[in-house]
Amino acid sequence: MLMVSQPETISPQSRRCLPLKILFLSSEVAPFAKIGGLADVCGSLPKALAALGHDVRVVMPAYRPIEEFQATGQYGVRGSPLTLNVPMGRGPVPAGVFEATLPGSQVPVYFIAERNLFGSRDWHYGYPDDPYRFAFFSRAALDLAFAALDWRPDVVHAHDWHVAPAVTWLATAGQLDRRYANIPTVFTIHNLMHQGTAPWSIFEYLGILSHSLAEERYGEVNFMARGIYHATMINTVSPTYAKEIMTREGGCGLDGLLRHRQFDVHGILNGIDDVLWNPATDPHLTATFTAETLDRRIENKRELQRAAGLPVRDDLPLLAMVTRLDFQKGLDITGHVLHLLLNNFDGDAQCVILGSGAPSYEGMLRHLSSYHRDKMALFLGYNAEIAQRIYAGCDLFLMPSLFEPCGLGQLIAMRYGAIPVVRGIGGLADTVHDRVNGFSFLGYNADEFWNKLREALHVFRHDPSTWRTMQQTAMRVDSSWTTSAMSYEQLYHWAMARVRGY
Ligand code: ADP
Repeated sequence: MLMVSQPETISPQSRRCLPLKILFLSSEVAPFAKIGGLADVCGSLPKALAALGHDVRVVMPAYRPIEEFQATGQYGVRGSPLTLNVPMGRGPVPAGVFEATLPGSQVPVYFIAERNLFGSRDWHYGYPDDPYRFAFFSRAALDLAFAALDWRPDVVHAHDWHVAPAVTWLATAGQLDRRYANIPTVFTIHNLMHQGTAPWSIFEYLGILSHSLAEERYGEVNFMARGIYHATMINTVSPTYAKEIMTREGGCGLDGLLRHRQFDVHGILNGIDDVLWNPATDPHLTATFTAETLDRRIENKRELQRAAGLPVRDDLPLLAMVTRLDFQKGLDITGHVLHLLLNNFDGDAQCVILGSGAPSYEGMLRHLSSYHRDKMALFLGYNAEIAQRIYAGCDLFLMPSLFEPCGLGQLIAMRYGAIPVVRGIGGLADTVHDRVNGFSFLGYNADEFWNKLREALHVFRHDPSTWRTMQQTAMRVDSSWTTSAMSYEQLYHWAMARVRGY
């Protein structure tokens, strides 16, 4: 039987829970380095766990911008007296360490500095030697915590394929070293599509002896498969995605392995940082507002229209997307829908899109916006400030994703009173309820997307009181990290109990 659980909410006051020592390993942590939702999670969840009384420490690589932060002192990044001699398979490799705390908290963040692997590269990912870079990082992070800091965590929490080598190392070579033996691990899958493969020699590099897995091609190591295989507990970022990845269609080739471990695979919804994403206090907004003062929101819409160079019109529905421009995000069914919308097939409307990614999608959007300058504005690139203004100013937020492990965009949009129009899969199915706090369609095709969008536009134009109720319902959804943090706490305890045998 499939087991996907989200433990029930208990109030923090009623909890009797021993403080845990939790080591977080991630390739992205906001605000230091962010490509997508992984960074948001690893920047917020440790703070929520610390607020529950746990001792959480986060380790990530010192990419070039972080070396620059260290030079300028931005985000409080500073050099550390710690130095590492990371015991790799063929001998020690030196590395440096920087330190900071997660903004707004006392949670320590450590950065592994290795100039050749991280500091000298222009970008975080995308190099042929990525598996080696992150294998080194994974082993160095363990060395930092267990040896340099002499801090033995109760549980190691590793996020996505980049740090799966830490899980594998602990389950294999680490068992031979008393300091590392019997450490429970939790492996979180943020996106099963990206798996990370390396030649078998990576195990020599890491000093690991292992057999190959059925999911691995001859002579190849699959980091994602290894994380799933070796972790004490596995989870992903929404209950529905946890079910989807155990099916042939959603399993990206690893569904058999996941089904093999089905009783250890859980789904815990992501939250959002409700201090950072708060329309009542957000300094980027023209007018702050709450569910009770929604009338003030219109000022943000007008400001967004001005900033986007669009006619300032309260009556027109303003649609938006803030997204990586990746096939995952449903851009293949979006082009036709925007074409219909901008050519007035359902009345006048406006559209603002912020994104960066695949040149083909950038080209498609550029083409559409150049034809419809008075209706569509396109911002290419990554811009957190514009994103925040879009969430606060748009009426409808589109997420027609092909697959979506959790999705943060719809959670942020709802918190800012924008109504999401989504494809009801993955985390979108768990958070957006059709005609309650948003609109949801199922089939991955332009027809269903367009019909659902027209339904939403109809309510916006002709039923303002229903629209207002939906906005307020959306704004009152509790997407804070507290509930999810307690679910993770439960998962850590299950992992610890498994290793201890009770
Ligand atoms: P994913 O992790 O797959 O990219 P999520 O919805 O989980 O998708 O998280 C995306 C996060 O990144 C959200 O916080 C969103 O606002 C932000 N984001 C995505 N693209 C941009 C962009 N171009 N500029 C600013 N923020 C962006």
